[in-house]
Amino acid sequence: MLSFWEKNTFCNYDYIIIGAGITGLSAACEIKEKQPNKSVLVLEQGLLPSGASTKNAGFACIGSLSENCADINLMGEDAFIQLVLNRWQGLQILRNRLGDSPISFESYGGYELLLQNQNTAFLDQINHVNQLLFPIFNAPIFSLQTHAAKQFGLNQNMVKTAIKNEVEAQLDTGKMMQALITYTQKLGVNILTGAKVLHLQENPENVLVQTEKIDFKAKQLLLCTNAFTQELLPNIELESGRGQVLVTGPIPNLKIKGIFFFDEGYYYFRNFENRIIFGGGRNLDFTAENTTEFGSNQKILDALHYYLKEIILPETPFKVEHNWSGIMAFGSDKTPIVKRISERQSMAVRLNGMGVALGSKLAKDLVALHED
Ligand SMILES: Cc1cc2nc3c(=O)[nH]c(=O)nc-3n(C[C@H](O)[C@H](O)[C@H](O)COP(=O)(O)OP(=O)(O)OC[C@H]3O[C@@H](n4cnc5c(N)ncnc54)[C@H](O)[C@@H]3O)c2cc1C
Repeated sequence: MLSFWEKNTFCNYDYIIIGAGITGLSAACEIKEKQPNKSVLVLEQGLLPSGASTKNAGFACIGSLSENCADINLMGEDAFIQLVLNRWQGLQILRNRLGDSPISFESYGGYELLLQNQNTAFLDQINHVNQLLFPIFNAPIFSLQTHAAKQFGLNQNMVKTAIKNEVEAQLDTGKMMQALITYTQKLGVNILTGAKVLHLQENPENVLVQTEKIDFKAKQLLLCTNAFTQELLPNIELESGRGQVLVTGPIPNLKIKGIFFFDEGYYYFRNFENRIIFGGGRNLDFTAENTTEFGSNQKILDALHYYLKEIILPETPFKVEHNWSGIMAFGSDKTPIVKRISERQSMAVRLNGMGVALGSKLAKDLVALHED
């Protein structure tokens, strides 16, 4: 049984945020930066943040050309430009909040590799996409790089050419999340881990937030639960998607520097210091990867090994040191869901597998919903 003191002090908040990923922690920061006197609690089901934010590849990306062309077809030009702007602004918020050095932010650019036999019709749109994005970046960001395969030691028989994106960058996911947690706590936010929220009940004067052991009360509740949102709100339209990632051991004289994509972004790799981090392949087994359960998929891991050996490191011996998975949330288009659900509740979820840049901007938009 909780004491009077515990109920009074530990269980009552102005704001409760569910989910300690990038979005949830950034929302907590937004509130405290503007309203330092408000009490804020973040509840996280895992002992560490346990969705995508500590599992990703650390691409601070705004999208490859083929992905951008597909997005324009899917969403229309205005929604596409807004999405890229949100990613770009989100990245600036994250960098300003934490600083580049603590998160090992490095801007070496991004390269989309075009493989032999790949349909390259979208290349015709390079100038058009550069023009659409010019107001955001004040420069054309996409350009053809015919020598990329040679420059980075990739298999030149398999990689036909590449398209560089000047503004793409990379960071250290672990350091970024650690810095975000430290910053959030310095602002006076309480973060409780191992606290899975099981049920929500909105009352006229508060929202009752029930976890396994303790019930909390909040004047305002923000859901930042991404792929796990349907456990609390079954009717939200999203699909979970597991992602597989591996990391090699150190590779002497590694030529690869930057972030790289191929097969329309389904595969992605980067250097982390002198290692390769390589992920993707969800399109090989959509059915099995449509899950919120962590776990490996041998078929996909085999494909990652194959491409690592055949395309990425064709002449270099390497050892895969470790692999892991994380869980993303996707919708029928690339638009995330940021909305009020009721008088006291709102959500920012469904980041479509590209939340490193986007998360901080969505958090800002989410908190703004409560300021009206
Ligand atoms: C393998 C992989 C690679 C990726 N690579 C990149 C990349 O390179 N670049 C990029 O931009 N994006 C990448 N992403 C996507 C990016 O990581 C996500 O879009 C982003 O982290 C989403 O942040 P979030 O805070 O919204 O969600 P999450 O990080 O998933 O956070 C949601 C949190 O809510 C918690 N939670 C859920 N339900 C409850 C509950 N009932 N009670 C308490 N807590 C709960 C979860 O445990 C989780 O910690 C990748 C994702 C994966 C999985």
